[in-house]
Amino acid sequence: MFVRVERGESRHHLHRKVLNIYWTVLMISIVAMLIAWIIKLQTNADDIPQFLVTSVAIPTVVQLIVIIVIEIVHYYKIEWPWITILSGTLIASALMIANKTIHIQYIFLLSMLVSLFYFSFKQLYIAFVVNMAAFTAIYMMYSEVRESMSSFEISAFVFIMIGMLFILRSVIDRGKEILADHTRMVKKEQELLVKQVLMDRMLKVDALTNLYNHKTFHEYLDMLTEQSNRNSMPLQLAILDIDNFKSINDTFGHTAGDAILTKVAGVLSETFVQNEIAARYGGEEFAVIFPGVAATEAYMLLEQAREKIEQLEHEELDGRKVTVSIGLSMHQQGQSSAQLFTDADSLLYNAKRSGKNKTVI
Ligand code: GH3
Ligand code: MG
Ligand code: MG
Repeated sequence: MFVRVERGESRHHLHRKVLNIYWTVLMISIVAMLIAWIIKLQTNADDIPQFLVTSVAIPTVVQLIVIIVIEIVHYYKIEWPWITILSGTLIASALMIANKTIHIQYIFLLSMLVSLFYFSFKQLYIAFVVNMAAFTAIYMMYSEVRESMSSFEISAFVFIMIGMLFILRSVIDRGKEILADHTRMVKKEQELLVKQVLMDRMLKVDALTNLYNHKTFHEYLDMLTEQSNRNSMPLQLAILDIDNFKSINDTFGHTAGDAILTKVAGVLSETFVQNEIAARYGGEEFAVIFPGVAATEAYMLLEQAREKIEQLEHEELDGRKVTVSIGLSMHQQGQSSAQLFTDADSLLYNAKRSGKNKTVI
């Protein structure tokens, strides 16, 4: 069963690690064979050509073929769940067959160890069964293997393989526990991050109107007046107050009053979509900061908002309308944020005194 992998990036990464292990095994076995060859050269020179073919060339070529096949599978990102295990067994078998009398049967642990990478009991059990089967087959097929191994050695091998199976099982178990802990922690961290973002927002924004709150407004105003004093950037400040809001509350109730606040804030959010900073200053009062904008432009935008508000008919107020008065002040070079605010506030007072529903500049 071959499956084209779309999501298995981490699995792909694991295969790479396994492949690196197989390359390492190949290198080690080549070095070991070369050392064996050098030793042989000094002792018995007769069977050297045969030794080079059966014990060096064949296993090296078999290992190379196996590794290249998995490299290709890896390159095309084809996922064949048991390929790393089977290839480990193949490599072990090639080495075992090439060196029948030198007792390297523990090389069959290779693909059981590899299954640790995948944290999978199933892979481990399959690796155990496949390797034991491969060893049995080689044992049956080659009399040299049978003759060179004592029954004591065979039973030791079987017990050690079974013992390793249990040890590796425990390692995978522990790995799974750690993984579960890690996943829980990552999830908690994400939840905390989301909470943090929401809290940051709550600290900055007024819950009823979704505009910036009093505190944030003052932070921005301080920052922008300072900047304006430094670089003579134009800066305007407007304060808006809903007209006769107390009587709205008194006549239609606070719930209706709240609905009006939300709608007026909605118009402000719709109108001031550029660099303007619209805030709910408190109660039924709003403030808008216009950084980098000329007074005439600010005035135009404010009048737009005022007219839009004036045109709304509110079903909460039995179809009645609501108006706002606005004081708009231009920041003077060297002026503090408090002075600018006082100016805008007194202009608002003028607007109220001179008949409401207007912008005074
Ligand atoms: P003016 O035209 O001079 O501004 O008159 P006004 O009635 O709007 O002025 P005043 O400041 O006397 O009244 C403001 C009222 O706003 C008083 C308070 O009951 C009401 N208010 C303040 N905050 C809220 C709020 O969050 N929700 C509601 N529904 N009412 C609020
Ligand atoms: Mg007021
Ligand atoms: Mg008012």
